[in-house]
Amino acid sequence: MTDTKPDDRTSEPCGCKVGRIADQYALEGLDDELVRYWTDRTEDRYSTRDLAEHVNQRVLAAALDEAGLQYKDGEVENTYRLLTSDDVSSGTRVQTRKELERDAVPIEDVESDFISHQTVYNHLTDCLEASLETPSDEERLERSRDKLGALRNRTSAVTEDTIAQLERGDVLDIGEFNVLVNVTVTCEECKTQYTVQDLFDQGGCDCQQTAD
Ligand SMILES: [Zn+2]
Ligand SMILES: [Zn+2]
Repeated sequence: MTDTKPDDRTSEPCGCKVGRIADQYALEGLDDELVRYWTDRTEDRYSTRDLAEHVNQRVLAAALDEAGLQYKDGEVENTYRLLTSDDVSSGTRVQTRKELERDAVPIEDVESDFISHQTVYNHLTDCLEASLETPSDEERLERSRDKLGALRNRTSAVTEDTIAQLERGDVLDIGEFNVLVNVTVTCEECKTQYTVQDLFDQGGCDCQQTAD
């Protein structure tokens, strides 16, 4: 959740570099995108580094558009990588720049418009007043439940497939069968065993709860 009011920020660009380039390159919906990706409550959440890369790739794409260049899916990302990645030789980088210049992309200006993760962070927190809310205990448990549930389903599916395969190959004989995946957690202090579900529902082991 954020405190940002979408109406306010579309009407008046902020004074920082992100606001300036969003305006200059007409990066529509950038602020909403940044806040959404940053505060996403799944594992797909963007770090400020991912966000800076995303903004810079949009800047690059806008510059290519401006120069009237056609590009295929993934090409902007790749060009950005050639311009910025440490894994790319300086020869390749120079070559990439030359080609862009030849295609009328003012690459030097474009590169100076690239932003850092710190700039994105400041824009998010100062200009947009967005904040990363730490998830509640309940939300964290819920997410973990989902994750482990998916893992159990996968284990069960792989087990079923494996048995079926062995059976088809006449390595194993079994009738109709059913796979049940059970994960047991033992508290080493009191030796009590729990299913993950029970442990989560209960919020911990009995022996620890009385100790608090
Ligand atoms: Zn800003
Ligand atoms: Zn215990």
